[in-house]
Amino acid sequence: MKLCISCERAFESNDWRCPHCSHEPSVIDGRFAFAPELARESEGFEAGYFARLADQEAGNFWFRSRNHLLIWALQQYFPKAENFLEIGCGTGFVLSGLKKAFPDLVLAGSEVFSEGLDFAAARLPGVELFQMDARRIPFREEFDLIGAFDVLEHINQDEEVLAQMREATRKDGGILLTVPHHRFLWSPVDDFARHVRRYERRELRAKVERAGFSVVRITSFISLLLPLLMLSRFKQRVTSEEIDPSAEYNISSLLNATLEKVLDAERTAIRAGLSFPAGGSLLLVARRN
Ligand SMILES: [Zn+2]
Repeated sequence: MKLCISCERAFESNDWRCPHCSHEPSVIDGRFAFAPELARESEGFEAGYFARLADQEAGNFWFRSRNHLLIWALQQYFPKAENFLEIGCGTGFVLSGLKKAFPDLVLAGSEVFSEGLDFAAARLPGVELFQMDARRIPFREEFDLIGAFDVLEHINQDEEVLAQMREATRKDGGILLTVPHHRFLWSPVDDFARHVRRYERRELRAKVERAGFSVVRITSFISLLLPLLMLSRFKQRVTSEEIDPSAEYNISSLLNATLEKVLDAERTAIRAGLSFPAGGSLLLVARRN
């Protein structure tokens, strides 16, 4: 069901005009915008951020490995899902991976900054994309699965987002999340990325459960690279030079390929049932109660 963001009543309709109050969402750049007041407020990201991201993702070991992990998790825990909403889809790299892996899955993507959606639209013909505030999701019991990948750590009111995700998932549906792990790994990279927090495992689990989900799997990943990550982040903390937050992406193709191989091995272990206690990121899978 759709949810009117003006009168907050649910309705079934092919279009977005609310049958109760006649409200219609705004349109920005040809796409529905449910929080137009926020669409252009992307000062959290420097100009050109999305362009550079779109350029780097496809070849970078971190984004590629995360996609493989998400595709596996979707297949493993939600094989019957018919539709999927990604919150904070950015340039659409995850959605394009899911589209290839699950051609029958109906995909939708949202982003608070309308700039990222231009890149996503080019990558994802036929996928419904819209601008929204994750704290006000305009759906009720609509999706089998909702994902937010490295998004919650940007939002002060992460629990509001989780509660909204709960409202927007169907019965028997669930959520897939990734977030940065461990407070002790906080570094200038987190400041640069405008993170509000990195998560402790217990904290993420408690917040997800309070929102009305049961956690079915939680594991760290980027675990086998943790020693390297700690070296890199610690260096950034003590260095007096100006930080280059993109340094972790600008690595040689040999190193990139090697790191990807390590994460392939790590994923094999996760698939076999091993949950890592520590790592750069956390993956959480939960079902709606
Ligand atoms: Zn209405």
